Parts: sequence; C-alpha cells; structure tokens
Amino acid sequence: MSKVLIFGHQNPDTDTIASAMALSYLANQKEGNTEAVALGVPNEETQFALNKFGMTAPRVITEAKSETENVFLVDHNEFQQSVSDITELNILGVVDHHRIANFETANPLYYRAEPVGCTCTILLKMFKESGVKIPENIAGMMLSAIISDTLLYKSPTCTEADIKAAKELAAMANVDDEEYGLAMLKAGTNNDSKTEAELINLDAKSFELGSHIVRVAQINTVDENEILNRQAELEATMEAEMAKENYDVFILLITNILNSNSTILVVGEPKVKVENAFGIQLDNNTAALEGVVSRKKQVVPPLTESFAK
Ligand code: MN
Ligand code: MN
Repeated sequence: MSKVLIFGHQNPDTDTIASAMALSYLANQKEGNTEAVALGVPNEETQFALNKFGMTAPRVITEAKSETENVFLVDHNEFQQSVSDITELNILGVVDHHRIANFETANPLYYRAEPVGCTCTILLKMFKESGVKIPENIAGMMLSAIISDTLLYKSPTCTEADIKAAKELAAMANVDDEEYGLAMLKAGTNNDSKTEAELINLDAKSFELGSHIVRVAQINTVDENEILNRQAELEATMEAEMAKENYDVFILLITNILNSNSTILVVGEPKVKVENAFGIQLDNNTAALEGVVSRKKQVVPPLTESFAK
C-alpha cells in the first residue's frame, strides 16, 4: 500500500497535531508506512509544546491526492473540517472524540471513537494495547494535547480517564502537569500580536446545523477585554469572512482560561437561534456565557438543537 497520511482538522490545535504525530509513531513501530501531516501551521500554544519537547511541526498539506489515496483521520471526522479533497480519498480509519456527522465512506474502515476529553487519551490506550513504549517527547506532546483540550482539566469534557492519562504521560515526559500546563496555555493567549483575521481563524470550525452553516471560533485569553476592545474590527473581519465563505452565522467564543467563563460575539442571521440556544439576549452582539468553556459540549449541542427547529 502507498504511504498513509495521518492528519487532524483544519486550523490545527495541539490535540490534532499531537494525535497525528503519536498515531504515526505507533503505526510505524508496527511496520506501517505513515506520515503525520497537518492542514495548517501550529498555533503558538502548540509551538510552545513542540519547542519544549524538541519536536518539529508536521509538514503542511492543502490536498492529499497528489501524494496518496490513503489517509487516516485523527481528532475529527466531519468532512468540512478535513482536507479539501477528502471525498476523493480512501479513509482507512479514524480515531476521534467528537460527534460523528457528515461522514460517509465507500469502504470498510477502522473507527475508534470514545467520549473522552482528548484524542490522545484514546491513543494512550492504543499504545498500551499494542505494547509499544511511548518515547519521552511523544508523551510530552500527548500530555500537551490533554491539557489543551481539557483546559488543564477544567473543561466539562474532561473525564477521569483524561486526568489519569495526563498524570501518566507527565511522568513519562518528566514534567509537572500543572506547572507546565499553565505555561503552555498562557503561551496560547498571546493575542495582542495577532490581526483580527488571525484571531478569528486561530481555532475555528464550521458546522452544518439544519439549513445553516455556522462558524464557531474560539479564542483563549486571560482577559476578555483585550479581545472585546477590538469588537468593531473583529465584527468587520467576521462579516467579510462570512460573505466570502458563505457562512450564515459567525460566533466568536472568547474564553477566559483563568475563571472558565466565556463571552460570545455573534454576527450574521438568524441571531435569534443563537439567543434561544443559550437562553440569552444579545446586547451589542455580545453575551456572557457563565461556566462555558467547551465548544463541543456546551456550545455546539444547544446550537444544533436550536437550529434544527
Ligand atoms: Mn481538536
Ligand atoms: Mn481533540
């Protein structure tokens, strides 16, 4: 079989990058011929982790077919979050922890999904099942992924299994999970240096909800006012992107990683469906969402329900 490319979602986060690297390492120990690649360059948080553990970022691809037909997906399954030519490829497998939507294959495949907080938690199990030892640097990246996806265990997506996996990986990587974790999360909140276009694309995903395409971007911060002070410019940039990409609604979820609250900024229509989803009233296009930090568990499900009506 020709080479297998392993990759996560567009706008890669730490879990997407670390999962691809870890799974590729595991597969290649078992005589696989795989390469971890990415659908974009690492964000600052991921780069902090790569530097810490002395790893290089996976090569960036924009399409796969010119290299191979065979791909393996990690940390996503929805086609609109995947590589541009995903419908023309042979998906050999998926390891993921998201809802399954807009997913269909021509051939049988390996599919492993578990409702845990991070793909790397599943991958730790897979390493154990196959008896392959995890090198220190890969363990460090996998730990970084769990810290990132669970916001250092504070997200409601975080399970006991994630915490247990992280503690185990921290020991393998020889780091203190809490101390390293906070430093890594803070490295990802260097927002002042970024343009509005960069901010709204840092961690953004599109969802087909009912008859609407809803874009949900998330920004981590230690002070939401540093983002809200730029509201007018952000809205203009979101409107422009919405027109270009045919999104109906663009939601920016501004998450304070220190107190685990978020503020949303919404442009597009129907805004009322966003208001109904959260039982809120937007004021100047914004609203506070207390205790909300997880797009997957606290934002997309209520939106899905509201947009289905
Ligand atoms: Mn992810
Ligand atoms: Mn993930």
